[in-house]
Amino acid sequence: MRTIHSVQEWQSIRKEITNKGPIGLVMTMGNLHEGHASLLKKARAENLISILSIFINPAQFNDKKDLENYPKTIEQDLVLAAEHGVDYVFIPSSEEMYADNYRYKITEHEVSHILEGKHRPGHFDGVLTIVLKVFSLIKPQRAYFGEKDYQQLQLIKGMVDAFFLEIDIIPCPTIRLDSGLPFSSRNNLLEISELKKLEAFSQCLFSGKSANAIEEKLLSLGFKVDYVAEWQNRLFAAIKVGNVRLIDNIAISSRAPDNDNKKPLN
Ligand code: AMP
Repeated sequence: MRTIHSVQEWQSIRKEITNKGPIGLVMTMGNLHEGHASLLKKARAENLISILSIFINPAQFNDKKDLENYPKTIEQDLVLAAEHGVDYVFIPSSEEMYADNYRYKITEHEVSHILEGKHRPGHFDGVLTIVLKVFSLIKPQRAYFGEKDYQQLQLIKGMVDAFFLEIDIIPCPTIRLDSGLPFSSRNNLLEISELKKLEAFSQCLFSGKSANAIEEKLLSLGFKVDYVAEWQNRLFAAIKVGNVRLIDNIAISSRAPDNDNKKPLN
């Protein structure tokens, strides 16, 4: 496994590996967990070369504190990457990724304004901008993204179509803890007691109740709720526990069959 920090170094490696078969890319912000690992496994299984990028992208953080507090565990991440047979880890600097001082950005005018976008202005433009930059550098044949960030996944697919990028976007299912809570780097910012309380978040989401009923239930449990809403046959929710914001979404068809509308949420 090779770890690369400089764009120039990567570009010369990219030339060397041009004819060495399909490249699978997994983009992350580090603090790797089981969710990321599932993407790495798939990338490795389906490609000759697998590449992990780790970059905490300033352009997608609308809250400065969130950016400052984002967990950073690079040594641990490199161990996990090696265990998953990653060939290259690309860890660029903000200075190099934004050498243009943020002059150029990708903007999307529809889907980026709903759900997450409504609560995090500019977030998805920041995401799409870094994804395009990393795609341009890595030039993968396939890129793996989690359904955990379903709206992001749809926006990336849309960008790939709009700009005729020859990259297959591979969706990967959300990996969850036994409690139902999705693995998330932001879970690591929570106390054990807060994590325990969060189990109710997942139970509510899978309860089979309407978005309104779930929102009411979450509020009654003391969560701050940004939204609970249906979109594209999925149920989306964003809540805050203290200063930590968490999101989740599920396919409406995946709600537990025994939890129909008659069953109370508690
Ligand atoms: P992040 O480091 O949080 O930006 O996530 C990097 C990639 O991992 C994104 O494509 C996420 O959707 C994906 N991901 C994060 N958490 C999970 C999870 N629990 N299950 C599956 N994929 C995930």
